[in-house]
Amino acid sequence: MVGTVELAAKVVTIKDDPWEMALQQFWQVAGRLTLKRGIQEYLVTPHRELTVNFPVKMDDGSIRIFTGYRVHHSTVLGPTKGGIRYHQDVTLNEVRALAMWMSWKCALVNLPYGGAKGGVIVDPTTLSSGELERLTRRYASEISVMMHPLGDIPAPDVGTNEQVMAWIMDTYSMHAGHSVPAVVTGKPVSIGGSVGRKEATGRGCMIAAREAARILGFPWSGASVVVQGFGNVGSIAAVLMAAEGCKIVGVSDVFGGIYNPDGLDMPALLRHVAETKSVVGFPGTEAVTNKELLELPCTYLVPAALEGQITDTNADRIKARVIVEGANGPTTPDADAILEAKGITVLPDVLANAGGVIVSYFEWVQDLQLFFWSEEDINQRLERIMVRSVREVIELAQKQGISFRLAALQRAVERVAEALMIRGIYP
Ligand code: NAD
Repeated sequence: MVGTVELAAKVVTIKDDPWEMALQQFWQVAGRLTLKRGIQEYLVTPHRELTVNFPVKMDDGSIRIFTGYRVHHSTVLGPTKGGIRYHQDVTLNEVRALAMWMSWKCALVNLPYGGAKGGVIVDPTTLSSGELERLTRRYASEISVMMHPLGDIPAPDVGTNEQVMAWIMDTYSMHAGHSVPAVVTGKPVSIGGSVGRKEATGRGCMIAAREAARILGFPWSGASVVVQGFGNVGSIAAVLMAAEGCKIVGVSDVFGGIYNPDGLDMPALLRHVAETKSVVGFPGTEAVTNKELLELPCTYLVPAALEGQITDTNADRIKARVIVEGANGPTTPDADAILEAKGITVLPDVLANAGGVIVSYFEWVQDLQLFFWSEEDINQRLERIMVRSVREVIELAQKQGISFRLAALQRAVERVAEALMIRGIYP
């Protein structure tokens, strides 16, 4: 649907664009707060944006030019933090939106970070390991003017993983002349990564859903769960919810989905994915499309793939009772309104998937101190922050009679605005 959004006195008209979504959400919240127009514009405008076009030597001897981005949305609360995405559909507007959502997420869960995001337009599955390494090292070099262990700290996102983070850390360290583990999080534990980081986002989703269920009286043990996207976030969320006694009835990846109303055997599914690289074809299940998967009957639906999955075209057919947003921006503002009218609870992305950046923060603190914590410590601290944040959001939403998304974003924007006003406008 075409929407118009005011940005710094300009009118932006973009069709189903994550940046348009992020702007719509911001202006909805800004309308509820008594902030001066200039402060609103400062909060909504990305601070720095870098576009890089760079060459990579391919295995066949040819040279290909790739385009990448790094956006710092806000530096008000501290150094910027946000993942790097490798995907063929990456756009500057998508990176902008993801950077703004990182600002709100960090503020919501009280981390001393502003928001950032990066991305490269590439389908990483089409590259050899050598090509991926050369692309990563060159991109890391190109954006090194934006990266710094005390200034901007990337992390993994869709299409990137621990290995990519290791190459980024190594490239930055080679330039610096010494190892700089704190420049990136989501690294392998062997080079300064944190135990518990790989599982943190999925674990956070599980904790958010469990705490919301406890407060709001939703079923938990035995409740049915559908998960879209079986990557880092979706697979861990599914495994941990299953370990809590939930019944995972449907999962999907980019190749398609599978469904069994009696529940999926998670260890067997993980073995199948390790062997075949997809959930598709898992024995004893019915094949469903990603579109059908979102509309399956279940208590919890965990979108954990990409943004813009639940829109005004399918929201009225969603049968889940609770949506736990593992992905960033999976639900459009139009869909939000439809879901609210249907009485479906949405645990918004900035809350539900904050576990990743929370443990990234722990990793960064450990790297800066060169002092490492136990997994038990990490998980307990993660749980404390997630539970506190879920309670705060639900309390504010109930007090003001607003959705959990609006409550979460309102709390976050208020915190950034307060810090901005205390710091003042330079010079
Ligand atoms: P990933 O690359 O590990 O996994 C993505 C999964 O989604 C894969 O299973 C892929 O096959 C599937 N997928 C891709 N396109 C799809 C499509 N069109 N339909 C259905 N499935 C599709 O990525 P990830 O790190 O798990 O990230 C998933 C989401 O979670 C993203 O929105 C990301 O921004 C968000 N997120 C990730 C983290 C993190 O720590 N990795 C933290 C917070 C939020």
